[in-house]
Amino acid sequence: MVKGKANPSAAAARDFSARLRRWFKRNSRDLPWRRTRDPYHVLVSELMLQQTQVARVLDYYARFLERFPTLEVLADAPPGRVMESWEGLGYYARARNLHALSKQVTGPEGTGTLPAHHEELRKLPGIGAYTAGAVSSFAFERRAALVDTNVARVLARVFAPTLNPKRPRDLTQLWVIAESVLPRTGAATWVHNQAVMELGALVCTARVKRCEVCPVRTICGTYAADQKRSKQLVKKPVRKRKAPTR
Ligand code: SF4
Repeated sequence: MVKGKANPSAAAARDFSARLRRWFKRNSRDLPWRRTRDPYHVLVSELMLQQTQVARVLDYYARFLERFPTLEVLADAPPGRVMESWEGLGYYARARNLHALSKQVTGPEGTGTLPAHHEELRKLPGIGAYTAGAVSSFAFERRAALVDTNVARVLARVFAPTLNPKRPRDLTQLWVIAESVLPRTGAATWVHNQAVMELGALVCTARVKRCEVCPVRTICGTYAADQKRSKQLVKKPVRKRKAPTR
């Protein structure tokens, strides 16, 4: 478990990642954006998934890519058509930024394709630290860390239960932890990152901790603390009430 500014030990990091990746291979959902390495398609899915449930994104994702299968097609489309395809998803700045990005990348000053490195990705409109890491890892299989709400929650619960992901300073610390638990190769990082997010979506959610089916239970700080608390509760002697005196 992380105390102060220390990171998980190399052994704990390896164990965490190996357990998660094994679990992911048996329990992950088959989602269309996990079947592609097309950077543009990955980017569209990541932008749509911000603030929106997977079930809702599935339809939009397929329809959007049918209309705008490439960055070039998107760049040539009138803004009204792009916004219309996003209608109902909300957070329309995502669509506006995506359209602006397509024009920038395919325009005279652009390279024509999305860059693989997260620092280059971050220079594009609407791409923050999480999205840059996600495109770098999920499309290019680079060894890039990513931290969204789900990942932050899982990492905090496992390695640093005292950190609060809503506090910027603690979130920075969680990014450091996310980096420190990445496996060695980009291909393994792809599975690792998907697995942490999947665990946060299915097992270690904001509303419920399904520790009994969690693959990292034996190394989780929150689970250990919960167990200790419930044992103390069981052990606590019941105080006998004094018999009333008359
Ligand atoms: S053991 Fe429980 S608290 Fe820890 S990561 Fe798993 S579900 Fe979350």
